[in-house]
Amino acid sequence: MFLDIKLESGKEEKVRFIGVNTPESTTKVEPYGQEAAAYTKSKLLGKDVGLQLNVQERDKYGRLLAYVWLSPPTKESNEEIRTKMFNAVLLLEGYAQVMIVPPNVKYAEYLRKYQQEAREKNAGLWGLDVKEEKSASSNATLFSYIGNKNSKKFHLPDCQWAKKIAPGNRVYFKLRDEAIKAGYEPCKVGKP
Ligand SMILES: [Zn+2]
Repeated sequence: MFLDIKLESGKEEKVRFIGVNTPESTTKVEPYGQEAAAYTKSKLLGKDVGLQLNVQERDKYGRLLAYVWLSPPTKESNEEIRTKMFNAVLLLEGYAQVMIVPPNVKYAEYLRKYQQEAREKNAGLWGLDVKEEKSASSNATLFSYIGNKNSKKFHLPDCQWAKKIAPGNRVYFKLRDEAIKAGYEPCKVGKP
């Protein structure tokens, strides 16, 4: 995750957040990339933040590497870091995965711990797999056919094409007739 941040000097810098790796939302869409970008904007756009550098000032693209403080910490403590450092907040809310790159390791132990917390709670991106597995298995026991809202084709659950349908485009049918009446055509590969 990186952001354009205007410094007090008036100079604008691309700033990359130390210790976190967020799903990409710009070049290609990865699960949770857009959510992470939207969350970051909602928290940081138009706000004054403090930047703290670590050992290495810039990455190989010339971006400033920083810990981003929503308000200045009064001391180095778990409580201060988890509530005031945006890098930590991203990890705790499950918007990012921890990525420690030496020599920038000042808060590494805290950041690893925050990711662990997020995983245990299935926060944000850590909950994605769990939800999909749950809904897939509960639906599979009740329905015999899976339709694709986009293509208007329906498949047997074990058809290779059925497995490729995005969760949001799936429609489940108990009976073949139900699918036909709903305007769905049988898939030509699996011949349901
Ligand atoms: Zn099929």
